[in-house]
Amino acid sequence: MTSTQSIQNGFSATIGNTPLIRIPSLSEETGCTILGKAEFLNPGGSVKDRAALFIIEEAEKSGSLRKGGTVVEGTAGNTGIGLTHICNSKGYKALIIIPETQSIEKIELLRTLGAEVRTVPAVPYKDPGNYVRVSEKVASEMENAIWANQFDNLANRNAHFQTTGPEIWDQTKGEIHGWTAAMGTGGTYSGVALFLKKKNPKIQTVVAEPYGSGLYNYFKNDEIKIEGSSITEGIGNSRITKNMEDMPVDDCFRIDDVEAIQILNKVLKKDGLFLGGSVGINLASAVHLAKKLGPGHTIATVLCDGGARYQSKLFNREFLLSKGFDLNEIGFE
Ligand code: PMP
Repeated sequence: MTSTQSIQNGFSATIGNTPLIRIPSLSEETGCTILGKAEFLNPGGSVKDRAALFIIEEAEKSGSLRKGGTVVEGTAGNTGIGLTHICNSKGYKALIIIPETQSIEKIELLRTLGAEVRTVPAVPYKDPGNYVRVSEKVASEMENAIWANQFDNLANRNAHFQTTGPEIWDQTKGEIHGWTAAMGTGGTYSGVALFLKKKNPKIQTVVAEPYGSGLYNYFKNDEIKIEGSSITEGIGNSRITKNMEDMPVDDCFRIDDVEAIQILNKVLKKDGLFLGGSVGINLASAVHLAKKLGPGHTIATVLCDGGARYQSKLFNREFLLSKGFDLNEIGFE
């Protein structure tokens, strides 16, 4: 990944080197500097472009992905979108297994990009019909195909250890006191946390959890246990993936959907930033961390993707009403 100042050679070379945006409303509110890594500006539109590129490049290097091969993956959408763009640019095919509960925008986008898309019911990981388990089985039964395996493939967090973490360190000139992010695979959180702790062990690294995820109770009470639910997508887990192993965790904040959507509407209306659901969890967690550390600190999080990917849900009055949200309370009206 090269400088944004020069000409980039094609899709893959354009991944990364995203801006780090100071969020005025949240910074003024907390007296801290709240920074968001603008991953929605990656060429495939999300933070997962980085992991997708590292996974494909590693499979090419190891020889497991050969000319004309197929990349198979179970994904909430964004990894699949990144993989499909890269597959197109390198002459591979993409076969994507996605839970049918994910936004129609992401599912349709995958089809438009040219992936073969199979939707499956949203069932827990222990069920063989789970999207991740199905993707592993489908890949194993195909010729010249690899399973990207983003949850347990360490190429995922290496992407963030080698690129996202160093970029945040350079962009803040090392003046950073906190890092927080929600986890799906855990690649983004753990790759950046491991890098920042290596640079300065005093930096606080904090996991943000939505309801409906099992890891808040794991960090607080040593027991994986799911409580409640969330309409956010791409985050939450009920197991410790390989990408999460040995990650530093100083604290964990659990954020509810009302707070997450309130903050999304605030940054849309006050800062002009139109962002996806997981970003609401991340920004709310950054505000909690700012309050914990006190004024004068610098806290970074990740702006995983843009709001247009969820227009039919998070930014749709009928959907929000059907889920029982009070439109005034969440700042929608
Ligand atoms: N936010 C969104 C919108 C995502 O799609 C994902 C990836 N599933 C994440 C956050 C979490 O990223 P990671 O897999 O690196 O933990």
